[in-house]
Amino acid sequence: MAYEKEVEVGVEAVLSAAKLCQSVRANIPDSIEKEDRSPVTIADFGSQAVICRALAQAFPNDPVVGEEDAAALRSSKMSEQLTQVTEYVKQQIPSVSTDDVTQWIDHGNGEASGRFWTLDPIDGTKGFLRGDQYAIALALLEEGDVKVAILGCPALSLDLAPPLDEQGLLFIAVRGEGTRVRSLSKDDYNAVRVAAPDDDEHLRFVESVEAAHGDQSLQNAIAKKAGIKSDSLRMDSQAKYGAVASGAAALYLRLPSPKKPDYRENIWDHAAGVIVVEEAGGRTSDMYGKPLDFSVGEKLFQNQGVVVSNGSLHEAVLAALNEPS
Ligand code: AMP
Ligand code: MG
Repeated sequence: MAYEKEVEVGVEAVLSAAKLCQSVRANIPDSIEKEDRSPVTIADFGSQAVICRALAQAFPNDPVVGEEDAAALRSSKMSEQLTQVTEYVKQQIPSVSTDDVTQWIDHGNGEASGRFWTLDPIDGTKGFLRGDQYAIALALLEEGDVKVAILGCPALSLDLAPPLDEQGLLFIAVRGEGTRVRSLSKDDYNAVRVAAPDDDEHLRFVESVEAAHGDQSLQNAIAKKAGIKSDSLRMDSQAKYGAVASGAAALYLRLPSPKKPDYRENIWDHAAGVIVVEEAGGRTSDMYGKPLDFSVGEKLFQNQGVVVSNGSLHEAVLAALNEPS
């Protein structure tokens, strides 16, 4: 298997981060507001610390582009939070100091070029705080091509049925070698495939819970035009990619919100999910059908909107999106 060491290290790191997140969530976490007013929790920092440490040890020359950095955590007004983060990291890695933790978090300030990892330590922080879905999304890129992903979804079960299965799932994709899934607690791996074209039971679509993260009315209209009759399933985070990859849904739509028409997506919000779906037989593009271009920095500057499908639905969705109104 290609990228064997990357997968091994990535799986262990994401499993450890997932345990940390579950442990924080068991104690009803507080949110801290970032400068851009988006929420972050001590679990976001702890997860980034644990994963960056593992990557720094195993692949010291690989930059990591992570969502968080430790600048705010180092300030005296956040010393209590830094102590808390360190306590949670200690449950995974005994005998660490606050300095270790901030250094590992800042290992995620690498540059997005050549071969590098991108990490969203908690994707869907709002879902994490609400008790809904969230993901730990790690991907390895080489010259703009996503080669490996480990996508941890600690609150996801394959049939998507409530109550949430807190055992959770881990998706592993390697370019050219397919996508596998395992539970967080057992290392039995199974191949996953997107929904077949004639699978009417799973002819449904997923979109974000957060109305501000997309255009829900357009998303619903496009899904209908593409032949989907049921209402959307709203879900936070890249767990949506997991739902499409495993055939639990046939489509994921993320069209720019009318309030932020020029929004550009972050690479860490999509890189892992994209390969998980593509290697499961699905297709991804922007709303104009262009492949997502991960070669231009930390954001998808060349793309707008995201369309993720089982493949067979893709052309109908693009046609509906781009027909003259
Ligand atoms: P989701 O859980 O699918 O809503 O995605 C969560 C991600 O949405 C966060 O990690 C943010 O980076 C991203 N986000 C924030 N604002 C927007 C926006 N206006 N449009 C699309 N995504 C956004
Ligand atoms: Mg995110």
